[in-house]
Amino acid sequence: MVTHIQDRTGKLDVILNRAEEFHGHIGPFLVLGVRMGLIGVRELGAKENKETLHVTAMLKHSVPFSCVVDGIQVATKCTIGNRKLKLRSSSGIAARFELQRGEQITVSVNPTAFERLKNELLSENVPPKEVRKLAHLVASMPEEELFIIRRR
Ligand SMILES: [Zn+2]
Repeated sequence: MVTHIQDRTGKLDVILNRAEEFHGHIGPFLVLGVRMGLIGVRELGAKENKETLHVTAMLKHSVPFSCVVDGIQVATKCTIGNRKLKLRSSSGIAARFELQRGEQITVSVNPTAFERLKNELLSENVPPKEVRKLAHLVASMPEEELFIIRRR
């Protein structure tokens, strides 16, 4: 998947491809998860010491919302299996990224963007081509339109 937009590390396309392979398909919620994960890693400067990063994903535990989880796992290497990823139930979509030394940030999907995606994706039987298009849209939307980032 080519997005024409690069995150600061220029890795978005590479990681999206990895996520698609891992997850089995590409969709807007998977892309959301990848972008959230990359923001978390970037903001906490956690790249070199992933072992200290922990993530709590807060979302609805059903498809397509749960697709976000696989995006986060691929982008952060914090997984259910290595116990660095926890899941909490929520009606929105957010993820909290924490370093062991206490620094943390929370990345939430902007409610307006979330509603728009929900309406477009859950309206009827959306054909796979449309789903791909929505994935591209989410991949290329400006970060500040898509997410609310809170640092603590
Ligand atoms: Zn999915």
